[in-house]
Amino acid sequence: MQILLADAIFTPNNILRNHGIVFDKKIIAVAPNNELLEQYGAQCQMLGEGSVIMSGLINAHVHLEFSANRSTLTYGEFMPWLSSVIANRDELINSCDSECMEHATQMMLDNGITAFGAVSSYGFDLDACAKATQKVVYFNELIGSDPLMADALYGDFQERLFASQSVKREGFYPSIAIHSPYSVHRILIQKALKYAQENAIRVTAHLLESSSEREWLDNNSGDFQPFFQNFLKQHKAANTAEEFLQLFKEVPTLFTHVIHANENEIIAIKEGNHTIIHCPISNRLLGNGALNLKELDSKNIRWVCGTDGLSSNYTLNLFEEMKIALFMQHNLNLLELSTRLWKSVTTDAADALGLNCGTIAPSYDADLLVTRVNYPINDQLPIHLLLQPLHIESIYIVGQKIKG
Ligand SMILES: [Zn+2]
Repeated sequence: MQILLADAIFTPNNILRNHGIVFDKKIIAVAPNNELLEQYGAQCQMLGEGSVIMSGLINAHVHLEFSANRSTLTYGEFMPWLSSVIANRDELINSCDSECMEHATQMMLDNGITAFGAVSSYGFDLDACAKATQKVVYFNELIGSDPLMADALYGDFQERLFASQSVKREGFYPSIAIHSPYSVHRILIQKALKYAQENAIRVTAHLLESSSEREWLDNNSGDFQPFFQNFLKQHKAANTAEEFLQLFKEVPTLFTHVIHANENEIIAIKEGNHTIIHCPISNRLLGNGALNLKELDSKNIRWVCGTDGLSSNYTLNLFEEMKIALFMQHNLNLLELSTRLWKSVTTDAADALGLNCGTIAPSYDADLLVTRVNYPINDQLPIHLLLQPLHIESIYIVGQKIKG
Protein backbone atom coordinates (compact mmCIF):
# COMPACT_ATOMS: atom_id res chain seq x y z
CA MET A 1 0.00 0.00 0.00
CA GLN A 2 1.27 3.48 -0.87
CA ILE A 3 0.22 6.87 0.42
CA LEU A 4 1.08 10.04 -1.48
CA LEU A 5 0.29 13.46 -0.05
CA ALA A 6 0.05 16.17 -2.70
CA ASP A 7 -0.38 19.90 -2.99
CA ALA A 8 -3.41 19.13 -5.20
CA ILE A 9 -5.34 16.23 -6.65
CA PHE A 10 -6.80 17.09 -10.04
CA THR A 11 -9.82 14.88 -10.68
CA PRO A 12 -10.51 16.93 -13.13
CA ASN A 13 -14.01 17.92 -12.00
CA ASN A 14 -12.42 19.14 -8.80
CA ILE A 15 -9.12 20.51 -7.61
CA LEU A 16 -8.64 19.04 -4.14
CA ARG A 17 -6.02 21.15 -2.35
CA ASN A 18 -3.82 19.47 0.29
CA HIS A 19 -5.20 16.03 -0.41
CA GLY A 20 -3.56 12.65 -0.62
CA ILE A 21 -4.26 9.24 -2.08
CA VAL A 22 -3.99 5.73 -0.64
CA PHE A 23 -3.63 2.90 -3.14
CA ASP A 24 -2.32 -0.55 -3.89
CA LYS A 25 -3.39 -1.94 -7.26
CA LYS A 26 -6.56 0.06 -6.89
CA ILE A 27 -7.26 3.39 -5.27
CA ILE A 28 -8.32 2.81 -1.65
CA ALA A 29 -8.99 6.34 -0.40
CA VAL A 30 -8.69 10.02 -1.24
CA ALA A 31 -8.61 12.30 1.80
CA PRO A 32 -7.15 15.53 3.22
CA ASN A 33 -3.43 15.28 3.96
CA ASN A 34 -3.83 15.98 7.70
CA GLU A 35 -6.30 13.09 8.08
CA LEU A 36 -4.00 10.69 6.24
CA LEU A 37 -1.01 11.85 8.32
CA GLU A 38 -2.95 11.23 11.50
CA GLN A 39 -4.01 7.76 10.35
CA TYR A 40 -0.84 6.52 8.65
CA GLY A 41 2.00 8.69 10.08
CA ALA A 42 5.43 7.84 8.71
CA GLN A 43 3.98 5.66 5.94
CA CYS A 44 2.95 8.85 4.12
CA GLN A 45 5.16 10.22 1.37
CA MET A 46 4.95 13.99 1.13
CA LEU A 47 5.30 15.24 -2.41
CA GLY A 48 5.60 18.92 -1.48
CA GLU A 49 4.85 22.26 -3.06
CA GLY A 50 3.47 22.30 -6.60
CA SER A 51 2.83 18.55 -6.67
CA VAL A 52 -0.30 17.57 -8.58
CA ILE A 53 -1.66 14.03 -8.83
CA MET A 54 -3.90 13.24 -11.79
CA SER A 55 -5.16 10.18 -13.63
CA GLY A 56 -2.97 8.62 -16.28
CA LEU A 57 -4.12 9.80 -19.70
CA ILE A 58 -6.01 7.63 -22.17
CA ASN A 59 -5.44 7.94 -25.91
CA ALA A 60 -8.43 6.33 -27.61
CA HIS A 61 -7.09 6.38 -31.19
CA VAL A 62 -3.62 5.66 -32.56
CA HIS A 63 -2.17 3.70 -35.53
CA LEU A 64 1.22 2.30 -34.49
CA GLU A 65 2.01 0.54 -37.77
CA PHE A 66 2.49 3.89 -39.51
CA SER A 67 4.88 5.29 -36.89
CA ALA A 68 7.81 5.58 -39.35
CA ASN A 69 6.27 8.59 -41.09
CA ARG A 70 8.00 11.93 -40.61
CA SER A 71 7.78 13.80 -43.93
CA THR A 72 6.77 11.02 -46.35
CA LEU A 73 3.04 11.73 -46.39
CA THR A 74 1.49 14.77 -48.07
CA TYR A 75 -0.34 17.11 -45.70
CA GLY A 76 -2.91 19.80 -46.48
CA GLU A 77 -5.84 17.98 -48.06
CA PHE A 78 -7.38 14.56 -47.56
CA MET A 79 -7.16 13.03 -51.05
CA PRO A 80 -3.48 13.91 -51.70
CA TRP A 81 -2.73 12.52 -48.23
CA LEU A 82 -4.65 9.28 -48.94
CA SER A 83 -2.91 8.88 -52.29
CA SER A 84 0.45 9.38 -50.57
CA VAL A 85 -0.49 6.71 -48.00
CA ILE A 86 -1.28 4.25 -50.77
CA ALA A 87 1.85 5.10 -52.77
CA ASN A 88 4.14 4.81 -49.72
CA ARG A 89 2.31 2.22 -47.65
CA ASP A 90 4.73 -0.67 -48.20
CA GLU A 91 7.78 1.47 -47.56
CA LEU A 92 6.27 2.99 -44.40
CA ILE A 93 5.09 -0.33 -43.02
CA ASN A 94 8.36 -2.10 -43.79
CA SER A 95 10.45 0.63 -42.23
CA CYS A 96 8.47 0.47 -38.97
CA ASP A 97 9.99 -2.52 -37.21
CA SER A 98 9.24 -3.53 -33.63
CA GLU A 99 11.76 -0.98 -32.34
CA CYS A 100 9.91 1.80 -34.19
CA MET A 101 6.56 0.75 -32.68
CA GLU A 102 8.04 0.32 -29.21
CA HIS A 103 9.45 3.83 -29.57
CA ALA A 104 5.90 5.05 -30.25
CA THR A 105 4.44 3.30 -27.19
CA GLN A 106 7.32 4.68 -25.10
CA MET A 107 6.68 8.18 -26.48
CA MET A 108 3.09 7.90 -25.26
CA LEU A 109 4.22 6.68 -21.83
CA ASP A 110 6.72 9.54 -21.51
CA ASN A 111 3.81 11.88 -22.23
CA GLY A 112 1.71 10.37 -19.44
CA ILE A 113 -0.46 8.06 -21.58
CA THR A 114 -1.16 4.98 -19.47
CA ALA A 115 -3.78 3.39 -21.74
CA PHE A 116 -4.39 3.54 -25.48
CA GLY A 117 -6.63 2.21 -28.22
CA ALA A 118 -4.51 0.99 -31.15
CA VAL A 119 -6.10 0.40 -34.55
CA SER A 120 -4.16 -2.43 -36.19
CA SER A 121 -4.43 -2.80 -39.98
CA TYR A 122 -2.10 -5.76 -40.39
CA GLY A 123 -1.34 -7.20 -36.96
CA PHE A 124 2.31 -6.18 -37.24
CA ASP A 125 1.95 -4.16 -34.04
CA LEU A 126 0.64 -7.06 -31.97
CA ASP A 127 3.97 -7.78 -30.24
CA ALA A 128 4.64 -4.13 -29.46
CA CYS A 129 1.14 -3.78 -27.98
CA ALA A 130 1.33 -7.05 -26.06
CA LYS A 131 4.67 -5.94 -24.55
CA ALA A 132 3.61 -2.34 -23.90
CA THR A 133 3.54 -1.15 -20.30
CA GLN A 134 0.16 0.48 -20.82
CA LYS A 135 -3.36 -0.91 -20.91
CA VAL A 136 -4.12 -1.58 -24.59
CA VAL A 137 -7.44 -1.84 -26.37
CA TYR A 138 -6.26 -3.59 -29.52
CA PHE A 139 -8.62 -2.90 -32.43
CA ASN A 140 -8.18 -5.43 -35.26
CA GLU A 141 -9.28 -3.57 -38.37
CA LEU A 142 -11.71 -5.01 -40.91
CA ILE A 143 -11.54 -3.57 -44.42
CA GLY A 144 -12.89 -4.66 -47.81
CA SER A 145 -15.71 -3.37 -49.98
CA ASP A 146 -15.55 -5.95 -52.80
CA PRO A 147 -18.23 -8.64 -52.21
CA LEU A 148 -16.22 -11.17 -54.24
CA MET A 149 -13.34 -10.83 -51.79
CA ALA A 150 -15.56 -10.82 -48.70
CA ASP A 151 -14.79 -14.31 -47.42
CA ALA A 152 -11.03 -13.99 -47.90
CA LEU A 153 -10.93 -10.57 -46.21
CA TYR A 154 -13.06 -11.73 -43.31
CA GLY A 155 -10.80 -14.76 -42.93
CA ASP A 156 -7.73 -12.56 -42.74
CA PHE A 157 -9.42 -10.29 -40.18
CA GLN A 158 -10.48 -13.28 -38.09
CA GLU A 159 -6.98 -14.69 -38.09
CA ARG A 160 -5.63 -11.42 -36.71
CA LEU A 161 -8.44 -11.17 -34.17
CA PHE A 162 -7.81 -14.72 -32.92
CA ALA A 163 -4.04 -14.08 -32.74
CA SER A 164 -4.72 -11.04 -30.52
CA GLN A 165 -7.10 -13.13 -28.39
CA SER A 166 -4.28 -15.56 -27.69
CA VAL A 167 -2.32 -12.78 -25.93
CA LYS A 168 -2.85 -13.41 -22.26
CA ARG A 169 -1.95 -10.44 -20.15
CA GLU A 170 -3.80 -8.20 -17.78
CA GLY A 171 -4.85 -4.93 -19.37
CA PHE A 172 -4.86 -6.16 -22.98
CA TYR A 173 -8.26 -6.15 -24.70
CA PRO A 174 -8.64 -7.69 -28.19
CA SER A 175 -11.23 -5.60 -30.04
CA ILE A 176 -12.64 -4.76 -33.47
CA ALA A 177 -12.27 -1.78 -35.82
CA ILE A 178 -14.46 -1.33 -38.89
CA HIS A 179 -12.33 0.81 -41.20
CA SER A 180 -15.03 3.18 -42.54
CA PRO A 181 -18.41 3.33 -44.30
CA TYR A 182 -16.73 3.64 -47.72
CA SER A 183 -14.33 0.74 -47.36
CA VAL A 184 -16.23 -2.15 -45.76
CA HIS A 185 -19.10 -4.15 -47.27
CA ARG A 186 -22.19 -4.29 -45.09
CA ILE A 187 -22.17 -8.11 -44.98
CA LEU A 188 -18.72 -7.99 -43.39
CA ILE A 189 -19.78 -5.26 -40.98
CA GLN A 190 -22.84 -7.26 -39.89
CA LYS A 191 -20.76 -10.38 -39.35
CA ALA A 192 -18.12 -8.56 -37.30
CA LEU A 193 -20.66 -6.66 -35.21
CA LYS A 194 -22.60 -9.84 -34.47
CA TYR A 195 -19.38 -11.39 -33.18
CA ALA A 196 -18.62 -8.24 -31.17
CA GLN A 197 -22.06 -8.31 -29.54
CA GLU A 198 -21.95 -12.01 -28.73
CA ASN A 199 -18.51 -11.71 -27.19
CA ALA A 200 -18.86 -8.27 -25.55
CA ILE A 201 -16.01 -6.88 -27.63
CA ARG A 202 -15.26 -3.17 -28.00
CA VAL A 203 -15.78 -1.59 -31.44
CA THR A 204 -14.42 1.49 -33.19
CA ALA A 205 -14.76 2.92 -36.73
CA HIS A 206 -13.70 5.95 -38.76
CA LEU A 207 -16.67 8.03 -39.86
CA LEU A 208 -17.18 11.13 -42.04
CA GLU A 209 -13.62 12.39 -41.78
CA SER A 210 -13.45 14.42 -45.02
CA SER A 211 -15.78 16.38 -47.28
CA SER A 212 -14.72 13.97 -50.07
CA GLU A 213 -16.11 11.07 -48.04
CA ARG A 214 -19.37 12.99 -47.48
CA GLU A 215 -19.72 13.61 -51.22
CA TRP A 216 -18.97 9.98 -52.12
CA LEU A 217 -21.37 8.51 -49.56
CA ASP A 218 -24.16 10.96 -50.52
CA ASN A 219 -23.81 11.20 -54.30
CA ASN A 220 -21.21 8.65 -55.46
CA SER A 221 -19.21 11.58 -56.80
CA GLY A 222 -16.37 13.95 -55.90
CA ASP A 223 -12.67 13.22 -55.20
CA PHE A 224 -13.35 9.65 -54.12
CA GLN A 225 -14.91 8.71 -57.47
CA PRO A 226 -11.73 8.44 -59.61
CA PHE A 227 -9.95 6.87 -56.63
CA PHE A 228 -12.52 4.07 -56.28
CA GLN A 229 -12.83 3.58 -60.03
CA ASN A 230 -9.08 3.35 -60.62
CA PHE A 231 -8.09 1.29 -57.61
CA LEU A 232 -11.15 -0.84 -56.94
CA LYS A 233 -13.31 -0.65 -60.09
CA GLN A 234 -16.13 0.55 -57.87
CA HIS A 235 -18.76 3.06 -59.03
CA LYS A 236 -20.93 3.27 -55.95
CA ALA A 237 -20.25 3.80 -52.24
CA ALA A 238 -20.27 0.62 -50.14
CA ASN A 239 -22.76 2.23 -47.71
CA THR A 240 -24.47 5.55 -47.19
CA ALA A 241 -23.69 7.13 -43.83
CA GLU A 242 -27.27 6.48 -42.71
CA GLU A 243 -27.11 2.77 -43.66
CA PHE A 244 -23.76 2.48 -41.95
CA LEU A 245 -24.97 4.02 -38.67
CA GLN A 246 -28.06 1.83 -38.78
CA LEU A 247 -25.80 -1.25 -38.60
CA PHE A 248 -24.30 0.02 -35.31
CA LYS A 249 -27.65 0.71 -33.67
CA GLU A 250 -27.22 -1.89 -30.95
CA VAL A 251 -23.43 -1.66 -30.58
CA PRO A 252 -22.09 1.41 -28.74
CA THR A 253 -19.06 2.36 -30.82
CA LEU A 254 -16.20 4.85 -30.75
CA PHE A 255 -16.49 6.78 -34.03
CA THR A 256 -13.35 8.68 -35.02
CA HIS A 257 -13.43 12.18 -36.61
CA VAL A 258 -17.17 12.59 -37.56
CA ILE A 259 -16.49 16.16 -38.70
CA HIS A 260 -18.91 16.09 -41.63
CA ALA A 261 -21.95 14.46 -40.01
CA ASN A 262 -25.38 15.99 -40.61
CA GLU A 263 -28.12 16.59 -38.05
CA ASN A 264 -29.78 13.17 -38.55
CA GLU A 265 -26.49 11.33 -38.19
CA ILE A 266 -25.67 13.27 -35.02
CA ILE A 267 -29.06 12.18 -33.63
CA ALA A 268 -28.35 8.55 -34.61
CA ILE A 269 -25.00 8.78 -32.81
CA LYS A 270 -26.74 10.09 -29.71
CA GLU A 271 -29.46 7.41 -29.86
CA GLY A 272 -26.90 4.64 -30.35
CA ASN A 273 -25.04 5.80 -27.23
CA HIS A 274 -21.87 6.15 -29.29
CA THR A 275 -18.74 8.18 -28.54
CA ILE A 276 -16.89 10.49 -30.92
CA ILE A 277 -13.08 10.60 -30.97
CA HIS A 278 -11.77 14.07 -31.76
CA CYS A 279 -8.27 14.20 -33.30
CA PRO A 280 -7.74 17.94 -33.95
CA ILE A 281 -4.13 17.84 -35.15
CA SER A 282 -4.83 15.10 -37.68
CA ASN A 283 -7.96 16.93 -38.85
CA ARG A 284 -6.02 20.14 -39.41
CA LEU A 285 -3.08 18.46 -41.18
CA LEU A 286 -5.36 16.58 -43.57
CA GLY A 287 -7.51 19.64 -44.30
CA ASN A 288 -10.66 18.13 -42.85
CA GLY A 289 -11.82 21.09 -40.75
CA ALA A 290 -12.79 21.10 -37.08
CA LEU A 291 -15.36 19.05 -35.19
CA ASN A 292 -18.29 21.10 -33.86
CA LEU A 293 -17.88 20.35 -30.14
CA LYS A 294 -20.49 22.95 -29.24
CA GLU A 295 -23.14 21.02 -31.16
CA LEU A 296 -22.08 17.72 -29.58
CA ASP A 297 -22.23 19.27 -26.11
CA SER A 298 -25.67 20.74 -26.80
CA LYS A 299 -26.92 17.23 -27.65
CA ASN A 300 -25.01 15.66 -24.77
CA ILE A 301 -22.95 13.38 -27.00
CA ARG A 302 -19.79 12.05 -25.42
CA TRP A 303 -16.55 13.02 -27.18
CA VAL A 304 -12.98 12.21 -26.29
CA CYS A 305 -9.70 13.60 -27.54
CA GLY A 306 -7.18 11.33 -29.29
CA THR A 307 -3.90 11.71 -31.18
CA ASP A 308 -4.48 9.53 -34.27
CA GLY A 309 -1.23 7.97 -35.58
CA LEU A 310 2.09 9.44 -36.67
CA SER A 311 0.76 9.15 -40.22
CA SER A 312 -1.22 12.32 -39.48
CA ASN A 313 0.57 13.81 -36.48
CA TYR A 314 4.06 14.89 -35.43
CA THR A 315 3.76 13.51 -31.90
CA LEU A 316 1.70 11.19 -29.70
CA ASN A 317 1.03 13.62 -26.88
CA LEU A 318 -2.41 14.36 -25.44
CA PHE A 319 -1.20 17.59 -23.77
CA GLU A 320 -0.34 18.90 -27.23
CA GLU A 321 -3.59 17.53 -28.68
CA MET A 322 -5.72 19.16 -25.99
CA LYS A 323 -3.86 22.45 -26.38
CA ILE A 324 -4.52 22.46 -30.13
CA ALA A 325 -8.21 21.64 -29.50
CA LEU A 326 -8.37 24.53 -27.03
CA PHE A 327 -7.15 26.97 -29.69
CA MET A 328 -9.14 25.48 -32.58
CA GLN A 329 -12.43 25.62 -30.67
CA HIS A 330 -12.26 29.37 -30.14
CA ASN A 331 -16.04 29.80 -29.71
CA LEU A 332 -16.16 27.80 -26.46
CA ASN A 333 -15.55 29.06 -22.95
CA LEU A 334 -11.85 28.61 -22.18
CA LEU A 335 -12.05 27.17 -18.67
CA GLU A 336 -15.07 24.97 -19.42
CA LEU A 337 -13.44 23.55 -22.53
CA SER A 338 -10.15 22.92 -20.71
CA THR A 339 -11.98 20.99 -18.01
CA ARG A 340 -13.96 19.01 -20.61
CA LEU A 341 -10.75 18.16 -22.46
CA TRP A 342 -9.18 16.77 -19.29
CA LYS A 343 -12.30 14.75 -18.62
CA SER A 344 -12.24 13.51 -22.20
CA VAL A 345 -8.80 11.92 -21.86
CA THR A 346 -9.46 10.43 -18.42
CA THR A 347 -12.97 9.59 -17.13
CA ASP A 348 -14.79 9.73 -20.46
CA ALA A 349 -12.18 7.84 -22.47
CA ALA A 350 -12.08 5.11 -19.81
CA ASP A 351 -15.87 4.78 -19.90
CA ALA A 352 -15.95 4.64 -23.68
CA LEU A 353 -13.15 2.05 -23.86
CA GLY A 354 -14.54 0.03 -20.95
CA LEU A 355 -11.49 0.50 -18.71
CA ASN A 356 -11.53 0.67 -14.91
CA CYS A 357 -9.31 3.73 -14.70
CA GLY A 358 -9.38 7.46 -15.47
CA THR A 359 -11.13 8.45 -12.25
CA ILE A 360 -9.49 9.29 -8.94
CA ALA A 361 -11.86 7.56 -6.53
CA PRO A 362 -11.89 4.32 -4.52
CA SER A 363 -12.04 1.01 -6.46
CA TYR A 364 -10.61 2.42 -9.70
CA ASP A 365 -7.22 1.13 -10.90
CA ALA A 366 -4.34 3.23 -9.60
CA ASP A 367 -3.21 4.58 -12.99
CA LEU A 368 -1.71 7.85 -11.83
CA LEU A 369 0.63 10.66 -12.80
CA VAL A 370 2.56 12.63 -10.22
CA THR A 371 3.33 15.98 -11.82
CA ARG A 372 4.79 19.24 -10.57
CA VAL A 373 3.91 22.78 -11.50
CA ASN A 374 6.13 25.80 -10.78
CA TYR A 375 3.32 28.34 -10.37
CA PRO A 376 0.62 28.95 -7.77
CA ILE A 377 -2.31 26.54 -8.15
CA ASN A 378 -5.69 28.22 -8.58
CA ASP A 379 -9.14 27.61 -10.10
CA GLN A 380 -7.75 27.97 -13.60
CA LEU A 381 -5.45 24.96 -13.19
CA PRO A 382 -7.15 23.06 -16.09
CA ILE A 383 -6.04 25.88 -18.42
CA HIS A 384 -2.53 26.29 -17.00
CA LEU A 385 -1.87 22.54 -17.13
CA LEU A 386 -2.35 22.81 -20.89
CA LEU A 387 -0.35 25.98 -21.42
CA GLN A 388 2.73 25.48 -19.22
CA PRO A 389 5.14 22.63 -19.95
CA LEU A 390 4.28 19.91 -17.46
CA HIS A 391 6.88 17.91 -15.60
CA ILE A 392 5.79 14.29 -14.99
CA GLU A 393 7.80 13.00 -12.03
CA SER A 394 6.27 9.54 -11.61
CA ILE A 395 3.87 7.25 -13.43
CA TYR A 396 1.90 4.42 -11.82
CA ILE A 397 -0.09 1.78 -13.71
CA VAL A 398 -2.28 -0.54 -11.60
CA GLY A 399 -0.35 0.75 -8.61
CA GLN A 400 3.03 -0.21 -9.97
CA LYS A 401 5.61 2.52 -10.34
CA ILE A 402 6.64 2.63 -14.00
CA LYS A 403 8.67 5.82 -13.93
CA GLY A 404 10.30 8.06 -11.31
ZN1 LIG B 1 -7.47 6.61 -37.67
